[in-house]
Amino acid sequence: MRIILMGPPGAGKGTQAKVIANHFAVPAVSTGDIFRANVAGQTPLGVEAQRYMDAGEYVPDEVTNQMVRDRLGHEDARPGFLLDGYPRTVAQVEELDSMLATTSDSIDAVVVLTADQDELVSRLLQRAEIEGRADDTEEVIRKRQEVYTEQTAPLIRVYGDRGLLVEVDGMGEIDTVTHRIFDALEAWTA
Ligand code: AMP
Repeated sequence: MRIILMGPPGAGKGTQAKVIANHFAVPAVSTGDIFRANVAGQTPLGVEAQRYMDAGEYVPDEVTNQMVRDRLGHEDARPGFLLDGYPRTVAQVEELDSMLATTSDSIDAVVVLTADQDELVSRLLQRAEIEGRADDTEEVIRKRQEVYTEQTAPLIRVYGDRGLLVEVDGMGEIDTVTHRIFDALEAWTA
């Protein structure tokens, strides 16, 4: 299975990504997690990424694409993967297409978690208190929503046109949303 998980910031992508990936026995590749690990380790990649992340902006495509290309080149990603937080721009979609083309692979489904914008802001503020993420202040959260709407929401159309879209209501309890995702994917692959 090669799955992309999309959705606005705060829609619960990270949590669901791990459950879905586990179910299909594929690695969950989260660009946000990889960036955060690099920031924590203060690697050159982390130092470069941090200023964008702190501002709620996207890390430049060239940097992100190279990082994903490296990660997907690992042995464990050969049978499949779940991408959490990538692609996020049209240029990243094109880059992913070219990565997959080299091995004649393709994406099976693009799961989009849909959610109410205001509800998400309050969810993210709650998460900020629990996890203490530097990019979870209200101002940065609003910026991240804006960037998502401008740069990532258009990808829904791109994958919709390819017939790959599986839209799932992302509001509600974590387990409820997980069930919806599995039901939707089952109906999709049936
Ligand atoms: P996330 O945990 O997915 O919300 O990502 C946290 C931050 O990492 C984002 O706000 C971006 O600054 C950066 N980031 C993660 N994925 C990408 C991506 N595909 N393209 C550019 N920046 C990204």
